[in-house]
Amino acid sequence: MNSRKSLHLSRRGFCLCCVGAATVGLTGGWLSPPQAYAEAHRLVGMIRDAAAKANITTHKLRGNVSILEGSGGNIAVHAGPDGKLLIDAGITATRPRIEKALAALGPQPIANLVNTHWHFDHADGNEWLHSEGASIVAHVNTKKHLMEAQRVVDWDFTFPPSPAGAIPGETFDADKSVTLAGCRLDLICYEPAHTDSDIGVHFVDQNILHVGDTYWNGIYPFIDYSTGGSIDGTITACAKNLQLAEKDTVIVPGHGSPISKKTELKEFYDMLVAIRENVSKLKQQGMSLGETVAAQPTKKFDRKWGQFVITPALFTELVYQGV
Ligand SMILES: [Zn+2]
Repeated sequence: MNSRKSLHLSRRGFCLCCVGAATVGLTGGWLSPPQAYAEAHRLVGMIRDAAAKANITTHKLRGNVSILEGSGGNIAVHAGPDGKLLIDAGITATRPRIEKALAALGPQPIANLVNTHWHFDHADGNEWLHSEGASIVAHVNTKKHLMEAQRVVDWDFTFPPSPAGAIPGETFDADKSVTLAGCRLDLICYEPAHTDSDIGVHFVDQNILHVGDTYWNGIYPFIDYSTGGSIDGTITACAKNLQLAEKDTVIVPGHGSPISKKTELKEFYDMLVAIRENVSKLKQQGMSLGETVAAQPTKKFDRKWGQFVITPALFTELVYQGV
């Protein structure tokens, strides 16, 4: 399922491949920081528009767990006898196709939802899922961010406070084990990483680990400094995921091809560490952001990781902010 074809479909599923391809096509794969910002600024509208048309692809894993791919972040679903449990909620514009995909997994009602973090491409569907019966669990900072207006500087976008139905009813801020809809889960709190609200979810009996946006499979990740994220926190979370994962653990990333494994996660870790070092050296030499981008500190990795919406220039900028 990690074939070239499925990776391509995955990118299509996230709905921004055409945008990414257009960006690369127009610029030869390299954007100046102002161009990168301009691309990033349109992200939210583009993601919403794309989600309205998105198809959902269902990947059946094991032990009643499936991944729904195509509406924002990868959604994990456990469909057991006690009801459906979802990890992440996708984007509301895709609701009809998500409902269809959920119905195909069985007749059980929707019982529980866990958010991996507060971002709209993971929590936008909270309200409708709650209206269908989902109790929502999340990190305490996810609740905090959903209750207040949030400005994400790199998206040039301010999200309004979420409606009451979207707010998690139960929160936590330390690792805990729970059983939701008959499914045993370990909820793992990261130090601030991609945001300050990230959690990982380990399906204990299935050995499936959904790590949210601490891992983007095969593509450069976004890092949200506006709500507590950083490159160093992202690297630390990735190291924690590597510790947690075993050889046969199925790892589900927030974005990118939805079924991954420890060896691929290690490649992501090595890429993050190498680029952080490269950017840090250039910044320490006194280079400005523009000069650092022009020096192409990600060049060695761009063919594999730089073909999506977080372009080499934008990722360089995200790393530069944190070193
Ligand atoms: Zn995110």
